[in-house]
Formats: sequence, structure tokens, C-alpha cells
Amino acid sequence: MVVGIDLGTTNSLVSVWRNGRAELIPNSFGEYLTPSVVSFDSDGTVYVGKTAQERLITHPEVTFREFKRQMGTECQFVAYGKSYRPQELSALILRQLRSDAEAFLGEPVEEAVISVPAYFDDKRRGATRNAGLLAGLKVERLINEPSAAALANHIQNMNLDELFVVFDFGGGTLDVSLVDAFDNMIEIQGVAGDNHLGGRDFNEVIAIDMCAKSELPWGKISPQQKELLYREAEQVKMKLSEQNEVETTIRMEGMEYQYSLANQQLIDLSSGLFRRMNQVLRRLMNDAQITVEDVSKVLMVGGSSKMPVVRHFVASLFDKKLCNDSNPDEIVCMGAGTLSGIKERMSEIKDIVILDICPFSLGVELRGDIMSPIISRNQSLPCSRVERYVTVYDGQNKIELNIFQGEHRNASSNLKLTSYVIDIPPRPKGEVFIDVRFSYDINGIFDIDVECPMAVVQIHDRLGNGGGLDSGELERRRQELEHMKIHPRELEQTKYVLEKAERLYVECNEQQKRLLEIALGQFQDILKLQDLQAAKKAYVKFEIQLAMIEKTLFRFAEFDAGIWEEMMQEDSEQNETSSDDGSEKH
Ligand code: ADP
Ligand code: MG
Repeated sequence: MVVGIDLGTTNSLVSVWRNGRAELIPNSFGEYLTPSVVSFDSDGTVYVGKTAQERLITHPEVTFREFKRQMGTECQFVAYGKSYRPQELSALILRQLRSDAEAFLGEPVEEAVISVPAYFDDKRRGATRNAGLLAGLKVERLINEPSAAALANHIQNMNLDELFVVFDFGGGTLDVSLVDAFDNMIEIQGVAGDNHLGGRDFNEVIAIDMCAKSELPWGKISPQQKELLYREAEQVKMKLSEQNEVETTIRMEGMEYQYSLANQQLIDLSSGLFRRMNQVLRRLMNDAQITVEDVSKVLMVGGSSKMPVVRHFVASLFDKKLCNDSNPDEIVCMGAGTLSGIKERMSEIKDIVILDICPFSLGVELRGDIMSPIISRNQSLPCSRVERYVTVYDGQNKIELNIFQGEHRNASSNLKLTSYVIDIPPRPKGEVFIDVRFSYDINGIFDIDVECPMAVVQIHDRLGNGGGLDSGELERRRQELEHMKIHPRELEQTKYVLEKAERLYVECNEQQKRLLEIALGQFQDILKLQDLQAAKKAYVKFEIQLAMIEKTLFRFAEFDAGIWEEMMQEDSEQNETSSDDGSEKH
């Protein structure tokens, strides 16, 4: 079975093509979004998703998130003396999604189509494929996230012929694409993006504002306090998607501060972020030489495109042509699932063709730090181009070939991908040449071939495949990850509420702590009975109780003592009946 996966910076999702449509697959909580968070326990157990997310505050040093930002780099995350690369943490997420899919489909899942940001370079794409391999998944196709969204959108309106913009604004990245779609063709005409612009930047803006208004020195607060502030900031941001102004109380080092924020103020605070959004959209429109009138709609994708301030901004740029006929959180994954169907040649969609492009120029360095592009930005994929380079001085006995990616005229301002030194016979200048061929496949994976007939030299290199690990190492790590204890599915919910209770405890005041302790005590008593039915019921109740405490913590709601009392009452009644049950069995 092949599935489609949106491996997001913040959240990940999995889908499958079934019964003529892409269908999202729920996790063990019955939810489609699995937070891209991984946490390790001292006994070697790994937690992924919601449970791991709860451990960010209680176990920050062994809980990791946003590692997608580090994909393809040498960055390592250390937990209990073991280190993990970003692709290994991603592999643990993929493994979880795979097991959710297998539980849902009732059959093994061996392959996945994974979406990646259009702006992901070669190394990051390679690392993503490796993450798949490490999770035991074959990854033959990667699809750019905005292209996936365009695909999912177009198959709902196959008869339309339109030029539209995909605005994919997630937790950590902004990706935009220009799409020309008609009949069974989806042609990407241009892409632009910012790898370091997303919802978390708004959280940071709000958190810093919280400090400024409470006269707390941002630079001096502890990492744990910052984490709490980010969380509060995120809550405020979410609320601002529903209402125009939010009031809350911030608790810092035992002190309480009043805080309020309105959407208009958020716009003022975030002017730097809007300027960057504007730059990205400008680049897209400028490259394609089109104006707002040529665009028929803007497809809003990603969690952050739900923010009214963002929608307002984009709508003002595009003459109010926003379109949202699908859920912005889910559409990328639906597209990846659709491509898995196309790949399987499912009859309804097998003829759909999606033409993507190379998001950046690839070239070699000429003497004098000049970038000579071989494949230029926005070239359709797959493509293959060859250029010939000759020696520049008499008796030259080697050619140093430096390969760069980027748009700067000076090679050194671009990203260096690799380099080769080729020994050549010394001859008068211009007599010895090398042919350099660059090939870029539909997944954005890059091959380099170099031929020098006079020196009988041939180089064939596939970049982005290693992702920092050779195949032996990859297999060894795959087995290691496979043998890591993953928390059992059936205990996932219980573990989640226990972790959440622990996290809330850190934030509670004395009175809330007491309530929490009583509720936790009752929940644990029921767990001890080992009665699955009772445990499930208790879980639902405990989760509501935690939500009540959490709400009052952020002062978004007044604590409803009446409801709480009622629930406690029910609990103790239920406890009595369950212990009656218990004694009957004896
Ligand atoms: P990614 O593609 O990076 O995994 P998502 O598309 O899931 O990210 O978006 C996650 C981001 O969206 C987070 O920063 C989150 O705070 C933000 N977000 C999600 N829902 C909302 C909402 N209703 N209002 C404002 N921001 C939201
Ligand atoms: Mg996304």
C-alpha cells in the first residue's frame, strides 16, 4: 500500500487514495494532525505527537520539535547520551504515521509519497528520503507542498482553466507557487518562499510584547519560562483568529500580569513579518511577469493562513480573491495522497499530469567568483543541461569545479553544494575542455555528470542522496530505530493525559494544583482497576477536567465550579459502583 504524507514542521498528516478520493487517516486520538514532536524517556521509550508535545515543558531537554528546519544539516539532538539527526527524528514521526495507517487500513504500508517545501534544497530532499528509508518506507516520489495543494484543489474543479497562487503559510515556512491548471494538466510556473517565516514568528512577536508590556527583561528569562510564554502567545494568537481582541493573565515567576492584544495591534507589531511576506509574493509575480489581474484566486494553505491578519493582508494585495474550499491544514496531505493514487495508476486519476519546476538556479563557479548557471530557476522538471568549460591559462594542469545553488551573481554568495578537482594534461589555454551535465528529476533530486575526454575522466554523482549517511550506516540506524520501544497505541491516550496533567501542574496556582491533584487521584484509582471500559470513560472525564483547568489558566473562561462539582460527584459515584463490581468478582 502507498500512502501520502505531509511531514510538516509543526504537524504531520497521512492519507490514502481509496474509493476514488484521497482520504485522511486518523491517529490513535481519532485526529488527523499529529504534532511533529518527539520525546524520549529514560527507559528508552519514544513518544511521538500529542503526548510528546505535552512533555515540552516538563522534559524540555529530551523533547524535540521543529527539527524539519534542520533537515539536511549536520545538526544533532542528544537525549540520554544518544544523538539523533533531524532525519532520524523525522523517521520516528513517519514510523508513527505508518503504524496509524496500518492500523486504519488493516494492511502493511511499504511506500509513501512525501511532500516537501518547494524551497527545500537538494540536501534537505535527500534527508527527507532518508527519513522515509529509516522508517522502513520506500520514497520514490517527493512532491512540493504547494504543488500538492494545487493538485488537491484542481481535481475538485477539473473543468476550470485558471492561473492561481498557492499561499502556504505554516509554522516555520512560507511557500508560494504560481499554478496554471487546465483539464488534466497542472503546471507550476513559478515558486518563491522564505524558509524562516511562519506562525512561530508571530508567537515570538507576541511573547516579546508580553514581556515588554509586563516590563520583564526578555533576555533574562529562563528557557522554561520562555516556553510557557510561547505557549501563552500561541493561545492568544489562536484566539485572535476567532475574536478581535484577547485578554489574558500571564504568570511569570509567581507574579501575575494582565495582557491584552487586538488584531490591529498585532498588525503593527508584525510589520517586519508582513514586509517579508510581501517580498516573497513580489518575487513570484515578478519572475512570471504577471500582475494581480492575471490571477484568478489565491488558495490559502497552512495553519497560519487562518490568521485574520494574514488573510486581510493577502486579500488586500490580491484584490480580495482568496479561496478556501478545503481545510488549509489538510489540503497538502490530500494532494500527497492524490499523487500516491496517480502513482498507483488508479483509473480515475491516472492521466493527471503535474509539471513542477526547479526552485533555484544551479551552476558552476567561473574564474573571478562568477556564477555560471547551467539550470536556471523555474525551469520545468525533469530537465538535463550540459555546458562545456575550457582551460583559462597555458599549461593548466587541473580544473577545480565548484558547484553552487542560488541566484547571486557572485558564486561565493550562493550555497556551495560540492566540488571536484580534475587533473588534466597541461596544454595551451582553451585546448582542454570538460563537459558538465546537470540533471534534475521530478523529485528535485540532482545528478551531476562530468566528462573530460582528454584526461579520460568521468564523474557521476548524485547529490542529496546521502543526507550525511552512507547506505551501510543508514541500514544500521534503521534497525536501531526499529528496535526502539514505541509507546503502545492502546496506552497512548492514558499517557497523554498523564503528561498533560504534569505539564499543567507546573503552571497552576495553589488552588488549581489542589483541584488537579484530586482529579488526577481519581483517574489513577480507576486505572488501577484495570477495567478497560471504566478507564476509557475516566479518560474522557479527566480530559474535560484538564481542559477546564487549562482554560482558567489562560483566563479565557471563568472556572465553572458548578460543573466541576458535578463531575467530581459523578466520579465518586462511579468509583463506588466500580469497586462494587470489583468486590462482586471476588
Ligand atoms: P507546518 O506546515 O509547518 O507543519 P501547519 O500548516 O500545520 O504547519 O501550521 C502550523 C502553524 O499554524 C502554527 O504556527 C500554528 O500556531 C498555526 N495555526 C494553526 N491554526 C491556527 C489558527 N486557527 N489561527 C492562527 N494560527 C493557527
Ligand atoms: Mg505544511
